[in-house]
Amino acid sequence: MLEKRGTELLRSLPAVHRLLDHPVCRELAEAHGHKLVSTAAGDMIGEVRAGILQGDETVETNLDMLADRVAERVKKQFQMNYRAVVNATGVVLHTNLGRAPLADAAVDAIERTARGYTNVELNLQTGERGSRYSHVEELICELTGAEAALVVNNNAAAVLLVLTEMAKGKSVIISRGQLVEIGGSFRVSEVMKASGANLVEVGTTNKTHEYDYERAIDDDTALILRVHTSNFRVVGFTYQPELSDLVALAHARNVPVYEDLGSGSLFDLRAHGIGDEPTVRETVRAGVDICSFSGDKLLGATQAGIIVGKQEYIKRIKKNQLTRALRVDKLTLAALEATLRLYLDEDLAKRDNPTLWMLLRTPDSMGPEAERLQAGLAAVFGDAADVQVEPGFSQVGGGSLPTEELPTWHVTVRSRQFSLNALEQSLRHVPLPVMTTMRKEAIHFDVRTIFPREIPAVVESVRDAFARLG
Ligand SMILES: *Cc1c(COP(=O)(O)O)cnc(C)c1O
Repeated sequence: MLEKRGTELLRSLPAVHRLLDHPVCRELAEAHGHKLVSTAAGDMIGEVRAGILQGDETVETNLDMLADRVAERVKKQFQMNYRAVVNATGVVLHTNLGRAPLADAAVDAIERTARGYTNVELNLQTGERGSRYSHVEELICELTGAEAALVVNNNAAAVLLVLTEMAKGKSVIISRGQLVEIGGSFRVSEVMKASGANLVEVGTTNKTHEYDYERAIDDDTALILRVHTSNFRVVGFTYQPELSDLVALAHARNVPVYEDLGSGSLFDLRAHGIGDEPTVRETVRAGVDICSFSGDKLLGATQAGIIVGKQEYIKRIKKNQLTRALRVDKLTLAALEATLRLYLDEDLAKRDNPTLWMLLRTPDSMGPEAERLQAGLAAVFGDAADVQVEPGFSQVGGGSLPTEELPTWHVTVRSRQFSLNALEQSLRHVPLPVMTTMRKEAIHFDVRTIFPREIPAVVESVRDAFARLG
């Protein structure tokens, strides 16, 4: 039997139709549709009633409050799982965080083309069917010095496609030191198997000589594959032939050379004291027949695999049936073309390509942002934490330049009274999650990968996350 209070509560519970008539619910129905709102309202009233029947006397039956709770439910259903986050890790090309952030020009290009129709496969000059690759091919050739180019879904797809077209049922020679695994279980040896090519390993883990390649070439050889060891370094007693020497010996035996560059930079970072990555132009100039690289690593565009090389080979690859399955979508093309155009002027690329801009930030240039963030966070925590600016190192990431350490500023938070683990976790549950690193009893915010425009929002996210600790 219900107590008297319970009976009163049941009686004061509004009918679903009355709740739906509330201005808040009407507005919700306008935005999200009547069906979802009435389901949410019905479910909630049902739950409140069940609570009362079980003797819960603390339930709320006030109409305004119930309407707000319906709004909360409906909004939760529309909250995106896939969201923007702040990268405070200092890893510029963070694969789990989507690698390269796009340039404004690329975002604008997506915006301009996404809402309506485009000339993706239309030749506007002739009015006839066109090729989706034509929009970027000339530009890629201009920027790399290659004869021809093709863009596919990603560089893993590029490797699969090139090996399938060039070497299916034949053999491919590769140095043992280059049989690498790249993040996400992409193994060169496995891709080779999938393509139907036979792997011929030469040399040793640390040393492969010209003669190792020479001896391995026979009538069955379709290709020499070089894989740029982009995500690790073998140091000490090592040897690999110069690319141009390898090309010379391969061409003397009529064997084409394919270089999987991995990152593939169009910008010479070495000139700025960063890494030892060859540019795509240099690789092409060394005479390789085919070369492929990612769109969203050092290039700083969207996920894509760019294949450049000699016309005769690119022509064949374009005709392969797999190309259709690995094709690049129209939004990627928009972002890629806009990003590539920035490279027509190096200064423009440095300024507007966020990947390059972040890589080239110096501690001096980041100082004011470090101080702004430190002041904002110090105000959030008050006496609860010690907030400092300390020197640290950022990483390039994305399997690029693994040993490179870029000097940076870390804003560090050391707790005086709360759990740092709880704060780190809470920072992932706020509407704008902030990804940090935890080191030596402190949460680190690396300033390098936080856009200056994000700093006020980071402070708000931290305020929110801290408040949620209770
Ligand atoms: C990253 C990488 C790939 C894979 O490129 P995705 O664009 O991520 O598919 C292939 N080869 C090398 C050497 C790489 O570094």
